[in-house]
Amino acid sequence: MKLYNTLTRKKEKFIPITPGEIKMYACGPTVYNYFHIGNARTFMVFDAMRRYFEYRGYKVTFVQNFTDIDDKIINRAKEENVTALQISEKYIEEYFKDAGSLGIRRADIHPKVTDNVKEIITFIEALIEKGFAYEIVGDVYFDVSRFKDYGKLKKQSLEELQAGARVEVNEHKKNPLDFALWKAAKPDEPSWESPWGLGRPGWHIECSAMAQKYLGETIDIHGGGGDLVFPHHENEIAQSEACTGKPFANYWLHVGYLNIDNKKMSKSLNNFFTPREIAEEFDLESLRFFMLSAHYRNPLNFSREVLSAAANALERLYNAKNNLQYLLENAEEKDLTAEENNLQKQLLSYRGKFVSVMDDDFNTADGIAIIFDLIRAINTYVLSDASKELVKTALDLLLETTGVLGLLAKEEEALNQEVEALIEKRQQARKDKNYQLADEIRDQLKEKGVILEDTSQGVKWRRS
Ligand SMILES: [Zn+2]
Repeated sequence: MKLYNTLTRKKEKFIPITPGEIKMYACGPTVYNYFHIGNARTFMVFDAMRRYFEYRGYKVTFVQNFTDIDDKIINRAKEENVTALQISEKYIEEYFKDAGSLGIRRADIHPKVTDNVKEIITFIEALIEKGFAYEIVGDVYFDVSRFKDYGKLKKQSLEELQAGARVEVNEHKKNPLDFALWKAAKPDEPSWESPWGLGRPGWHIECSAMAQKYLGETIDIHGGGGDLVFPHHENEIAQSEACTGKPFANYWLHVGYLNIDNKKMSKSLNNFFTPREIAEEFDLESLRFFMLSAHYRNPLNFSREVLSAAANALERLYNAKNNLQYLLENAEEKDLTAEENNLQKQLLSYRGKFVSVMDDDFNTADGIAIIFDLIRAINTYVLSDASKELVKTALDLLLETTGVLGLLAKEEEALNQEVEALIEKRQQARKDKNYQLADEIRDQLKEKGVILEDTSQGVKWRRS
């Protein structure tokens, strides 16, 4: 496989650290609101990549964090007269609802900042110890002048970065580009004990600390939205590599911007849409189809018209699936004719074509084009007198290629959601000490072929 690496600005052959395994981290949402469709694009792209890596036989460990302490969360909590924790818990729950309706699977681990403050403090202490960070009146800053590679992701020198930086007014910082690792507590804010007094982590440090804790010092893939290249990912690299002396991530993948009616999404234009708003008018699978029908690195323009077109295209996929299912029910069980043997080979050749474009930096745009080529071939060759085996080959191939993208998978997703709901119900029953109900739900899940595992990260499940 080849992946475009933002760090080198090149498409590179993908070589995982451990053969057959991928450690992948993507920056998740700050949970103070519903996420918008620009965020949705990023989450969906990494979800589809993960599915594709698994399809190609890799064992993927995927971590996506929740930023659950932040100015925006604190402000929202003040506005609503509730605690920051209440806000973050609510929007984590809403994240899972929206992600589920977009066919985005849960990551293996969704760590939260507030569960990792101890690890973050240890990380900051190591940076101070090594001379990469300094404390001033309860704040701790990373000293960018001490990290010689600062700017390597953005591909700018310290001077260039300084010229372009919006200088934050702060008399304490040595350099305007220095960034906070730890912020001294202000009155009425959630805070934690630390060697520098009460305070809370800065934003960038959480991803360095949590990626290291859950995936190790060097990971294969780090991803996020294109807007995170600078300063967030630049700062993550500085923190992690200063701390360990090793590369942080071997491949940096970034998702292009989503524009709305050819305009950048912005607060001032008030042109944000959430998946829930889209769902009032469209099936959200159309949104997923639309997002994946472009290459993930390209900017993508959203409008009602293009979403309608996506809905129509998706309907063609469903029609093809329904036709094949109908044919399969009625097809005769008979040996393939010599001609059918040939046709079967032709159909199967689309698998190789699909894989080869997807292997080329995850080109879902071409991947979807090949699925439509496949459908054209199916419509031409797989007719009502086709033998059962030929029809089955065609249907399996269609479901295999669309399934990798998380498309035509409504039934499967509905089943998954049912399982997730049961697991949640069981968790609640256990919290309420209603062990009989909890056991009943466990048996119910068992009947569905679901195996539960209680881990330190919560309950995981798989199908037996
Ligand atoms: Zn991050």
